[in-house]
Amino acid sequence: MQTRPQLDITLCAPRGFCAGVDRAIQIVELALEKYGAPVYVRHAIVHNKYVVDGLRDKGAVFVEELEEIPAGTEAPVVFSAHGVPKSVPADARAREMFFLDATCPLVSKVHVEAQRHFEEGQDIVLIGHAGHPEVIGTIGQLPEGAISLVEDIDDAERFTPRNPEALAFVTQTTLSVDDTAEIVAVLKRRFPAIRGPHKEDICYATTNRQEAVKQVAREVDAMIVVGSPTSSNSVRLVEVAQRAGCPRAYLYDRAADIDWSLFEGIKRLGISAGASAPERLVDEVIEAFAERFAIKVSAKVTAVENIAFNVPRELRTVPAA
Ligand code: SF4
Repeated sequence: MQTRPQLDITLCAPRGFCAGVDRAIQIVELALEKYGAPVYVRHAIVHNKYVVDGLRDKGAVFVEELEEIPAGTEAPVVFSAHGVPKSVPADARAREMFFLDATCPLVSKVHVEAQRHFEEGQDIVLIGHAGHPEVIGTIGQLPEGAISLVEDIDDAERFTPRNPEALAFVTQTTLSVDDTAEIVAVLKRRFPAIRGPHKEDICYATTNRQEAVKQVAREVDAMIVVGSPTSSNSVRLVEVAQRAGCPRAYLYDRAADIDWSLFEGIKRLGISAGASAPERLVDEVIEAFAERFAIKVSAKVTAVENIAFNVPRELRTVPAA
């Protein structure tokens, strides 16, 4: 009998679900339980195909815009964890829709910061990725032109504010900690009076997952990040692994997507998961490796998380599923 090659697997801890994702999924599940199907969800509630497909099976209907929802419906409409421009709840009210907002409280915190800077007369820079729903949501908190998007160091070098003395920055929550620090450093060098959060607005979950990946990536031959390509924080984890010295770092939605030719001859594998990837999918990847290798699994714990967010008041009376 052919013996399977040895493989040491190191699981990054923390990995996977964050408090904002957990809350957003709970909101859809509790809404389904309390009001029954359908529950409309504007945009993928979180950027994970498995989660979205699972909720769809339970009766959630995903749309990109409110106009896709039948007029006059009494079914609840949930806004995704990424946040929405102010025009969206205004539109929902105009259409007399009952909506539940699953925006992560840490994204809402950035909205509040941007609003405060605006009221104080500051020009606002948002460091983030064009087109990401969180960025669209944050820009949409304020009148058009109030927020300028800076995506990278080149943008930061080129940016021309109306008044460099009245300038503030906020950031997307799921950026690379290291890239963002470089962009902030450029802005601070060019505009010493710029105001902003203590470091940036990158959330605890993004920061902790990146730190764990950074530490594990240095010690392994290959890394897998479980997550969807649409998930900003998951894609950042792959980049972090590559920059930390593990060029063989790959993003996979599911075990079935693994290209096994890329893992031939490895002795040590690191595994992490983006903030929207369920632990079930990490288990699935481990099981797939166990079929091909004699695996030994350990964890590298770089932080312990105990953050949880309340669901909206309307749903608090529903017993958890
Ligand atoms: S990644 Fe961070 S900001 Fe996004 S939902 Fe999770 S906790 Fe909230």
